[in-house]
Amino acid sequence: EPRTHDVAIGHYETALSALPADDGRRMPILYNLGLTLRGAGRNEDARDVFGQLVEPLSAPGLEIRLASLLSVLGSIELELGNLDAAERFLARSDALHDDLDNPGEHAALLIEWSELARRRGDIDAAIEHAREALAEAERAEFTPSIRGALRNLANALAAAGRFEEAVDIQGRYVSVSDDFWRAQMKSRLEDAEARYGNERQARELAELRQASQEQDFTLRRERLRQQLLLGLGIAALSIAVAAFIWQRRNTRRLRRLSRTDPLTGLANRRQASEWLDRLEPGEPGRWSVLWLLDLDHFKRINDSHGHDAGDRALQDVAALLERLAERHGLYRPARWGGEEFLLFGRIGSPRQAMNIAEDLRAAITGLRPRDRMNDAIELTASIGFSPLTGLHRPSGQADWEPAMLAADQLLYRAKQRGRNCWMGLWPDRVDARIAAHDIEAAIREGRGRLLDDRDEDRTAAPGTT
Ligand code: GH3
Ligand code: MG
Ligand code: MG
Repeated sequence: EPRTHDVAIGHYETALSALPADDGRRMPILYNLGLTLRGAGRNEDARDVFGQLVEPLSAPGLEIRLASLLSVLGSIELELGNLDAAERFLARSDALHDDLDNPGEHAALLIEWSELARRRGDIDAAIEHAREALAEAERAEFTPSIRGALRNLANALAAAGRFEEAVDIQGRYVSVSDDFWRAQMKSRLEDAEARYGNERQARELAELRQASQEQDFTLRRERLRQQLLLGLGIAALSIAVAAFIWQRRNTRRLRRLSRTDPLTGLANRRQASEWLDRLEPGEPGRWSVLWLLDLDHFKRINDSHGHDAGDRALQDVAALLERLAERHGLYRPARWGGEEFLLFGRIGSPRQAMNIAEDLRAAITGLRPRDRMNDAIELTASIGFSPLTGLHRPSGQADWEPAMLAADQLLYRAKQRGRNCWMGLWPDRVDARIAAHDIEAAIREGRGRLLDDRDEDRTAAPGTT
């Protein structure tokens, strides 16, 4: 409104056109429109607008508004130079003020009176009204009124040629104005500061909010990173565990492979040695015995039936030995060398050892595997056996090694005797200390006996104490 009067006037007129002529809400709009027209310098239009308000504001209870309106109308007429018309409005306002106690409004009216008197050349009256206006304004303690009154008085005194007094009043006006403007400035400054403070606070708040959001984001990112690392860790761990399991399985598989004879699937010599290491030497009544079995003239079999037939014969022998070992309650058999097999286990008597030897021999003779031409292969084996107990064990040898050497010696003897037969050694006492490389001496000295399948009587009941 104070800057663009035209715009404000346009809005007021639009508002008025929207209301019926007798609508009470027109009055404040008209009043403000009048003030705006005055501010725009359109005094005649302002007078027309204010004029429309005289009648509505003449209702009881609105006297102060009417008094103010009349005072404004008087002021407009004064500015338009209609002094008589101005006097009529001011007189009507004055009459209303007799019953009102409103020093601020009264001061404004008295200023108009003073102005009117000055225009008419009645300077003394002008000064008189001006002093009255100042007194009323001071009573009202309303600075704009006081300023207006002081200015009016200073003008009146100057018009009267009383310059010293005018200067004095002007000085007061300046000082009041200074105070007024200082107060105005202060309050505006405070407003600005408050606004600035609010802005700063708002900015700080926004910064804090952003910082907290950033922190939040960082935290979330950190958490995400940790989760990711955890996930990766778990994945790595899983891979490591899987690799470990795979490795272990692989190791086991390799271990098994390294201990298994690929042709027959039997334990190989390495595996058999490990098993023998764990075999207890035994004692009378619970003897641990080794049977070493070598296929006879196997080179010839290869030669006459082919190497592949030899291979299949070895596989058949292996399967047979597994069955026999299980039947006699022995450990699993092993392929000790090319066509050499080992059996071992715990038995109760030398008779049982001989029975097992004979069973092995007979079973191999009866195996009769077929070659590629479906011709039967005549297969026989020679067997030597020995218990672990009663043998001399040189230092550095395992418990089972002397028995293995003895069995080998006895196997050799069986070969010499014509093959397809078995021979065993049995010590007379557990402390016979028979040397595996010199079984003859032990036999001579009566520390042990030879068992074989030709002399059942001699081997039927060897001394086993
Ligand atoms: P002996 O009655 O004296 O034991 O005669 P032999 O021919 O069986 O004995 P020797 O030790 O002279 O020969 C063993 C043969 O066994 C030689 C080898 O060709 C054969 N042999 C060893 N391993 C295998 C195998 O895996 N497959 C086949 N087909 N033959 C084998
Ligand atoms: Mg052989
Ligand atoms: Mg051999």
